[in-house]
Amino acid sequence: MNDEWSVLINEIRNCQKCPLSRTRINAVPGEGSERAEIMIVGEAPGATEDETGRPFVGIAGSLLRKIMKDIGLREDEVYITNVVKCRPPNNRTPEKEEIIACSDYLRRQIKMIKPKIVITLGNVAGEWFFNENKMKWNGISRQHGRKYELEVSGHRFKLIPSYHPSAAVRGSVDPDIIREDLLKALEELNKQNRGSSERIKTLYDYLSRDSQTSTSRDSSKVKH
Ligand code: URA
Ligand code: SF4
Repeated sequence: MNDEWSVLINEIRNCQKCPLSRTRINAVPGEGSERAEIMIVGEAPGATEDETGRPFVGIAGSLLRKIMKDIGLREDEVYITNVVKCRPPNNRTPEKEEIIACSDYLRRQIKMIKPKIVITLGNVAGEWFFNENKMKWNGISRQHGRKYELEVSGHRFKLIPSYHPSAAVRGSVDPDIIREDLLKALEELNKQNRGSSERIKTLYDYLSRDSQTSTSRDSSKVKH
């Protein structure tokens, strides 16, 4: 972790900018590669996340991580975080004021990571990104699985909204829909990387790339 990152993580862990600081056990800054090409953004930590200080480690998290594994998206090539970094009591939806108080952390994370693709999970996260771009959010069922070109903190990226995995845990959405949305995000990344700097320069590059991945992604790019 470089200085800017440790400063940010410490700030979040000690933050008292909103009332959620009084009921949390641990703030949950996020986890994954600081150079990830894909960022996954949820709503707010739940009970297990609050206990461990890690994002998406409860039941919804297991489903998300299983879907990622199924489609070949490794945990070390994404950065996973939430709009709000502390658990709202009883997992209620975060209040507007709490979201506003916490937003600067997500903006700074985006500025540092510079993802090519952002996947939002659920209405709160999708709406946050639309609001940042002064766009109207029409609800997850209309907007999931589509691709939007957005900008946050001066950084441009493609946004692909999906459902929150806890909706699949509750049985109100088919997990295959989330899987398909995540696959779209992966296809978009492959498309972007194919045309750009991912050229094979030497026979060695060619051979090592083939042994690392079965897709056209160059996984060496996102390693620490
Ligand atoms: N739900 C979220 O939105 N985020 C988590 O980290 C866990 C559950
Ligand atoms: Fe700070 Fe965000 Fe936690 Fe509120 S939710 S105390 S703003 S880190």
